[in-house]
Amino acid sequence: MLSNKIIALAESETLAMSQRSTELKNSGIDVINLSVGEPDFFTPDHIKNAAKTAIDDNFSFYTPVGGYLSLRKAICQKLKNWNNLDFSPEQIVCANGAKQAICETLMCILNDGDEVIIPAPYWVSYVEMVKIAGGQSAVIQASSANNFKITAEQLRAAITPKTKAFMLCSPSNPTGSIYSKDELKKIAEVLRDFPDVFVISDEIYEYISYVGKVNSLAEYDFLKDRIAIINGVSKGYAMTGWRIGWVAAPLWLVKGITKLQGQFTSAPSSIAQKAAEKAYSGDNSCVEKMRAAFEKRRDLIVSLARKIEGFEVNLPDGAFYIFPVCKHYFGKTALNGKTISNSSDLAMYLLDTAHVASVGGDAFGSPDCIRFSYATSEEQIVEAFKRIEKALAELK
Ligand code: PMP
Ligand code: GLU
Repeated sequence: MLSNKIIALAESETLAMSQRSTELKNSGIDVINLSVGEPDFFTPDHIKNAAKTAIDDNFSFYTPVGGYLSLRKAICQKLKNWNNLDFSPEQIVCANGAKQAICETLMCILNDGDEVIIPAPYWVSYVEMVKIAGGQSAVIQASSANNFKITAEQLRAAITPKTKAFMLCSPSNPTGSIYSKDELKKIAEVLRDFPDVFVISDEIYEYISYVGKVNSLAEYDFLKDRIAIINGVSKGYAMTGWRIGWVAAPLWLVKGITKLQGQFTSAPSSIAQKAAEKAYSGDNSCVEKMRAAFEKRRDLIVSLARKIEGFEVNLPDGAFYIFPVCKHYFGKTALNGKTISNSSDLAMYLLDTAHVASVGGDAFGSPDCIRFSYATSEEQIVEAFKRIEKALAELK
């Protein structure tokens, strides 16, 4: 019998939709997968070569729990050169993806019942990770009218004596919104008044920005001892399968995460670490090439989605998702007599009828919306929206 903890846990909807789409594909159906968020590019050659060399050079032993010193040094250099932030290698822990880094951070700071403020729309896993760590999510809704960003006033109103942490994802999954320097300053000013609130800043999409360099709450010195930056190579370097993410945090937290990881998974793969080290220390032009391709696709998908009747489409500043409001279709009926009651129904309808996989907004805490990933070719995006338009026109 499963534990109550695991029974209460929801399945990852992004991974589940992607799995469903793969199963349909394997059964011979031509499915276009706009569900999962992962770059369709191959990992750049110089990074792959570093991994091959690491194998030949016998980097095959356990590494320090937080990762090789050389990798942690490369991450500190990146934080200095790209973000102008000072961190020492002792302040970095590498994990099996940013996912593990976030979950471990939450497990290290939360006691049972502690609250974590999470702006919605949020990435699917945050709320479930808070549950795993024994905490409670306090969700605040960002409005589509404010480009899906919360205001400083909303944050102030949400903080209670039970608040232990605040999570921010910028650029955001699922909306692509990026908090400007000025917006972050206002949020930081609120946090200055609440010195016991810890900040988790998920910056995994920072390289995929269409509005220039992304600012971070970590730029505020008064947050230095209570902020964890989460990042990794999955998105910016097209390395989702290599499973290298990291957290940059104050020493007291890094010690806790290292203790936890030492009992749980140990360090991530030695070979993947050497590849990630090359990503951070090698030629970075691959990042710009992929970013530019995503920007072209962003412009294409936004123009196509804006032609769909009933979709309200924001202009994402970064990442590779659009998150249209789609509630226009709720209550409508398909040719087979099935009624579309919510965004999950709509996503299933599009998968079954148009053979396009997406993810309903319910999983992101915003049931009026639906998420499409544009980490796929322009041809696939054009074909997907032809099919979506036709399928939606059949709903009465
Ligand atoms: N944070 C966000 C917002 C994400 O979209 C993802 C994507 N999976 C992650 C964290 C986890 O990334 P990783 O593949 O490095 O675990
Ligand atoms: N973060 C990606 C997404 O939102 C990958 C899937 C996952 O890890 O949940 O689709």
